[in-house]
Amino acid sequence: MNTVSVDVSAPLGIFGGTFDPIHVGHLRTGYELMHALRLAELRWIPVGNPGYRDPPLASAALRLEMVRVAIAGQPGFVLDDREIRRDGVSRTIDTLHELREEHPRHSICVLLGMDAFAGFQKWHRWQEIFDYAHLVVAHRPGWPPPTEGPLAALLAERAMPDVASLHAALCGGIHVRKVTPLEVSSTDLRDLLLARDDPRFLVPDPVRTIIDSSGCYAQTYE
Ligand code: ATP
Repeated sequence: MNTVSVDVSAPLGIFGGTFDPIHVGHLRTGYELMHALRLAELRWIPVGNPGYRDPPLASAALRLEMVRVAIAGQPGFVLDDREIRRDGVSRTIDTLHELREEHPRHSICVLLGMDAFAGFQKWHRWQEIFDYAHLVVAHRPGWPPPTEGPLAALLAERAMPDVASLHAALCGGIHVRKVTPLEVSSTDLRDLLLARDDPRFLVPDPVRTIIDSSGCYAQTYE
């Protein structure tokens, strides 16, 4: 584990996702983690080409725009479009490599939900991620933390339960955090939209407007 502990600046958080579409589960989780971890800022990074899963329904430009309007006006939230601008499959390790060059003295925290952590060991060059960043894993309804197997071992090996430790070291730890449980997913939202239901209050109003006017998930909803 990297234990660099001199001159480390307050952590930069990064929250990547397909955001197809962004919803209150993402936003509230990001908001709570930004405050709980005392992040210097939280960068929202829509995936360009996810590679590992079906392509998103909404175009990259629309997903980017939905994130832009969703986070607008929230101090500390920053939109980062680098994965959409980059060619090829989006890899977190490439993003971290760039961010580390841009921010050599910031601790970096990669935020993800427990469902994403369940597949973490399939991420491209996942071991190297700890040379660049900490992982901050948010609880998510339906996804209990692993208690056995390789992921439980990884958690035990790299556990960093104190926020102060995330501030003191540039990278290398795993911090697990409870957030307000919100059983909302983009998959359920897409199903709801395809059934022509209204997503009101599951997504911010400006996101709902984009969904409505673009017809990216269904032509209209009632
Ligand atoms: P899909 O249903 O299409 O897989 P999703 O709702 O899981 O989408 P993603 O854009 O894939 O959303 O997720 C981006 C990140 O946000 C992931 O790390 C995921 O675990 C996390 N996340 C998504 N929804 C929630 C939620 N309701 N609570 C906590 N974390 C969440």
